[in-house]
Amino acid sequence: MTASGPTSGDAGTAHGMSLRVLVAEDDRAIRELLVHHLERDGFRTIEAGDGPSALRVARDGIDLVLLDVGLPGVDGFDIARTLRREGRTMPIVIVTARTEEVDRVVAFELGADDYVTKPFSPREVVARVRAILRRSGMTSDATPAVMRFGRLEIDEAAREARVDGRDVGLKPREYALLVVLAANAGVALSRDTLLERVWGYDFDGDERTVDVHVRRLRMKLVEEYHLDACVHTVHGFGYKFAPA
Ligand code: CA
Repeated sequence: MTASGPTSGDAGTAHGMSLRVLVAEDDRAIRELLVHHLERDGFRTIEAGDGPSALRVARDGIDLVLLDVGLPGVDGFDIARTLRREGRTMPIVIVTARTEEVDRVVAFELGADDYVTKPFSPREVVARVRAILRRSGMTSDATPAVMRFGRLEIDEAAREARVDGRDVGLKPREYALLVVLAANAGVALSRDTLLERVWGYDFDGDERTVDVHVRRLRMKLVEEYHLDACVHTVHGFGYKFAPA
């Protein structure tokens, strides 16, 4: 059995250097959540809690800006406008609690590269950050993000889990759950942690949601594909990925 580790951490690097992401957000809980997920993915983060400091930091060798619109001092739109006017070309991702179409239009007119609406799943934000950096050539695709565990292959680029080369046909949440578990192989993850990482911190459902999805995942992998059990129950706590 060969089990290569997750390679998603490579996404945050270019030429062996960690990419620097500015997280400009005045809501501390959201900021820390984003920082946590970005760093887990191999990025370096710099935080700013208000407009003026966000602007100052953004001018200092930042590779990508995650920009809250509602920042004290100078709002996110003004920061984006200023950075573009100064000729800075780093990708900018606007994060906003507002859902008006006009905001989306304004964001792109100002030169933003993407637009995320709160509440969001941090996992999705990180995925978008990676996609933008990949598009702008700042991360290399030389290392395909494929995790292999015996007959099971998890292909992050194709968003596909395969057994013996055949797509298992997982639903998006089942797939996301498998990725989080497999990326932490051997580590017991609580239902709470799984909820946060797969469904997002703002998800209202209860922990049984996790159980239901684990059951489906096992049914597909074990019963349909006769794979040895790899998602183990950690009683009174959560689940652990441990290939046979
Ligand atoms: Ca805000």
